[in-house]
Amino acid sequence: MNKPVFLLDIDDTLNDFSTSFIKEVERQGYKFDYKHYNDWDIARFIIGVEDPDKLMSDICEKLSFWKSLNPVPYAYDVLKEVINDQFDIILVTSPWIENSKHRKVKSEWIKNNFGFLRKKPIIFSKEKWSIAGPIIMDDKPKTLKSCYICKITIKPMHPYNKNVLSNYEFKSWKEVPGIIKSLKKDYHDYLFGDDGRD
Ligand SMILES: [Mg+2]
Repeated sequence: MNKPVFLLDIDDTLNDFSTSFIKEVERQGYKFDYKHYNDWDIARFIIGVEDPDKLMSDICEKLSFWKSLNPVPYAYDVLKEVINDQFDIILVTSPWIENSKHRKVKSEWIKNNFGFLRKKPIIFSKEKWSIAGPIIMDDKPKTLKSCYICKITIKPMHPYNKNVLSNYEFKSWKEVPGIIKSLKKDYHDYLFGDDGRD
């Protein structure tokens, strides 16, 4: 039997993009307004810089920044031991800049940090709701909102997506095995089909 497709985001789902970004902002001598940080537009919360969007572009244009991101704790073990066996993982992401170098840095990051996923397909797209697959794990508010009506959504919680609806949510990947257990029960027929009897 085919395994159900599991669409898996990379930034701030598998890596620590926003934490590393804020660290880099602070390393450069600026401050970050943690107290009011509650929106996807992270640049808005940088204090002391004249052009926050330019600072963000300068940081994110560097391939070395993307290479340096850390994997989120426990994601490796949970994906390898719980999700990879039961689902058909497809990585879905979009590079900071639409070019081959920025795409490559993402696939190499996967190879270096989640080696067992290195042969999985990576779809580069911002319109993840248009990709076939019943389940998506993603942190971006716009993606969650658009996918909520057509997929089972799993949200890694961040300050910017607190109030966005999803079917499941988690703070730590340690909670994900429990979510998978519930999801398989809650959506059994939808994901695995029924046994054909009326
Ligand atoms: Mg993301």
